[in-house]
Amino acid sequence: MTIVEALIELQDVDGRIRELEMELKDLPRRRALETARLSGVSADLKAAQAGLEYEQGRVRGFEDDAKALKEKVQKLKTAQASLKSNKEYQQYSVQIDLVQHDLEAAENNQLAAMDEIPGAKARIDEAQARYDSVKGGIDSICAEIDDRMASVKKELAEAQEERAAKARQVDDPKFLLYYERLRTKRWPVVVPLTHDGVCDGCHLVQPPSVGQLADANAKNGAEGKKQSVVACTMCGRILYRL
Ligand SMILES: [Zn+2]
Repeated sequence: MTIVEALIELQDVDGRIRELEMELKDLPRRRALETARLSGVSADLKAAQAGLEYEQGRVRGFEDDAKALKEKVQKLKTAQASLKSNKEYQQYSVQIDLVQHDLEAAENNQLAAMDEIPGAKARIDEAQARYDSVKGGIDSICAEIDDRMASVKKELAEAQEERAAKARQVDDPKFLLYYERLRTKRWPVVVPLTHDGVCDGCHLVQPPSVGQLADANAKNGAEGKKQSVVACTMCGRILYRL
């Protein structure tokens, strides 16, 4: 195997490592987006629950009003029974009628408020069902993401081991150092020099001397002789011809 072939094998593993590392960064973001979807349906459910509490509060309010008015009627009737004059008695009757009228209104309001309860309960059931369904979907997606995360970590550890072996295959420290330095800035590092003499990385046309060096390198490689670093004059990528 020539140095260039060994570098290309190393670069293939590094390409996989790059993809796995990107995925590893992306997975928690995707998980957070999924979890955020729950906050909307959760707010709907809370609003429905607050709606029921509001209606129940109205029912209790009218109930308390009715109770107070009933007691008032009872007190007026008790007081009326001990009255001596007809005039006073009639005045009390008028007052009792008025309070009884209010009592009827409060009782009607209470009944009307009670009619709102089943609807409010149904809205909670609907919101709960939506929440459960969305949460079920999110839980299963999150479980898939967690599974994927575990296998990406495992694949990455394996690829790192493979990388170490591939790096050992490149038995020219100068080539390896050149490759490692460029790896973080230019990707891919090792690219073909096309037949038109263009760098396949940055697409700049190379001077003829670069093409001659690349051809000589290919010939040396085929004959088992030492190869040298042929770099793009623009981007510095390692150029090769097979
Ligand atoms: Zn280039």
